[in-house]
Amino acid sequence: MATPKPLPGAGGPLAPFFAAAKRRELVVQRCDGCGALRFPARELCSECLSRESSWVLVSGRGRVLSFYVMHQVYHPAFAGEVPCAVGVVELEGGPRLTTSVVGCPPSEIRVDMPVGVDFEDRSEEIALPVFRPAG
Ligand code: ZN
Repeated sequence: MATPKPLPGAGGPLAPFFAAAKRRELVVQRCDGCGALRFPARELCSECLSRESSWVLVSGRGRVLSFYVMHQVYHPAFAGEVPCAVGVVELEGGPRLTTSVVGCPPSEIRVDMPVGVDFEDRSEEIALPVFRPAG
């Protein structure tokens, strides 16, 4: 039997994020005070210090801000996937996600490459956003 991949918990402050991902939607927090978008979830807005926020749907479009290619297998569940790319994707509006960049060989990934969100089901409760090159 294959080793399962480690999964994040679907509860806690990111529960709305994971519930949306399961619906194939990408959401981030928006400050109710100044409108700034942010991810991951935080209690306090770093722009205006407001504690009020809402989860809002975003386009899922962004660009690769930075990335690295994993060649070493650090967990047996990923043995069949190396080399693979982990990137920081900056979404429209500014929030950044550390995520998998899939859909092309890692050697073709470039900084500033436009990408769009997709979702990979990992369990009954968890779907993870990943990003693919945008057409
Ligand atoms: Zn704010």
